Amino acid sequence: MIVEPLTADEIKRSFVNSTKGQAKAINLPTRFTELPWESLDYLGWRDPKAPNRGYLVVRRDAGVTGIAVTTQASGAPRRFSGLCDLCNTAHHVSDVALFAARRAGTAGREGNTVGTYICADLACSLYIRGLRELDVPQGETASPEERAARLSARLEGFVNRVLA
Ligand SMILES: [Zn+2]
Repeated sequence: MIVEPLTADEIKRSFVNSTKGQAKAINLPTRFTELPWESLDYLGWRDPKAPNRGYLVVRRDAGVTGIAVTTQASGAPRRFSGLCDLCNTAHHVSDVALFAARRAGTAGREGNTVGTYICADLACSLYIRGLRELDVPQGETASPEERAARLSARLEGFVNRVLA
């Protein structure tokens, strides 16, 4: 869990797969100072001025790690549903998005990316705690604590794939 609020400066310095210029240009979430930090396993948001961009920032043992991702709007019909790879929440397919993260370092500069389906609004932490509405039946019966632990483990795996 994040718990301790992150500062704008910490966030902008955390990105491992962006150039310094790109990191500077990142737009923070709207109402940044009112975020429910105590309920966040990671801070995730879509760029308010560039909606095809998203960001995940996680507090890890090694420090604060930020991952920039991009997505394309999906034209898939709403009758299908899909699962978020990080928190396993079931959504209409239009509410889950395939995000691509450029890999860190040389691999990223050569065009290598890691692709993952994630809740389109990057609000996994709120869904697993029942803090954001869902209109798709959920097969999940685990407690929010168990789901948060699993989310953190999958997030760590995702971060490691980007860093590898
Ligand atoms: Zn999710």
